[in-house]
Amino acid sequence: MAKEQGASPAYLLSLHKLNDLKGIEKLQDGSLRIGALTTISEIERSEDVRRGWAALAEGADHLGSPLVRNRGTLGGNIANARPAADTAVPTIALGGSLTLRSLSGTRTILAKDFPRGPGLSVIKSDEILTEIRYPPSVAYSGSAYYKLANRKVLEISTVGVAVWLALEKPGGPVSDVRVALGAVGPTPILAESVRGILVGKIPDEARLLKAAGAACSDARPIDDHRGSAWYRIKMVELLTLRLLRIVLKRIEDNQ
Ligand SMILES: Cc1cc2nc3c(=O)[nH]c(=O)nc-3n(C[C@H](O)[C@H](O)[C@H](O)COP(=O)(O)OP(=O)(O)OC[C@H]3O[C@@H](n4cnc5c(N)ncnc54)[C@H](O)[C@@H]3O)c2cc1C
Repeated sequence: MAKEQGASPAYLLSLHKLNDLKGIEKLQDGSLRIGALTTISEIERSEDVRRGWAALAEGADHLGSPLVRNRGTLGGNIANARPAADTAVPTIALGGSLTLRSLSGTRTILAKDFPRGPGLSVIKSDEILTEIRYPPSVAYSGSAYYKLANRKVLEISTVGVAVWLALEKPGGPVSDVRVALGAVGPTPILAESVRGILVGKIPDEARLLKAAGAACSDARPIDDHRGSAWYRIKMVELLTLRLLRIVLKRIEDNQ
């Protein structure tokens, strides 16, 4: 910002040495707590994350380069509030929540309610993001993230899609689902229309196609140098369909 917008803040604070805000912990109730200063590399390497919250691990896998992943933190990637942020999109699909803390208190909000526009969020100037929590990985559930980009590494996504889905029982109807979309609007988007199509229904191929179509109706892409709005909408449909199939296969394989 200093270089590009000439910003000259009076103070620049580093959070780097706040060790309490680092680390990945599986809690007794089965939920996952990740300190905001945990690096993307640590998330990438965590077996717990990969087993129970695969979409987040896959977001971490595809963020920047090893150098960026070793320095960048989960809290920084989310607080940055970019529409393509590779860990924010899976965090929304996984139903993650954020703890924001200031001298006057602590509040918790759902990750989907955090961003307000490119680089804008509901965080107040006296708050920091301290931790990110993910609900327990329930039986017959699974998740996945896919980043579509013009290059395989060091590239911001053209479209990112994360899917979390749970079945009532093996081969049974969908009990809940969340599809989150990246880089197809001013913020990451929770594709709310998909729930109405899938919840309570057997996820056969026709249903999945309908759900993928519904995801497109929630996307608000623009044309830019990474891809046209038309292409992005097509990719939302294709990737949502593929990821729904992948998640269902993962659930089947884990039984
Ligand atoms: C070369 C390069 C490639 C990149 N590629 C990708 C990519 O492919 N995908 C992607 O999603 N991102 C990418 N990024 C963006 C970047 O890596 C991430 O957003 C990174 O995770 C930021 O983390 P950080 O800890 O360095 O945050 P910082 O850069 O230090 O902070 C980012 C913003 O968040 C605020 N902030 C940070 N931590 C907190 C906190 N705990 N509480 C409150 N506010 C906080 C800061 O004040 C700042 O405004 C790339 C960046 C670079 C430089």
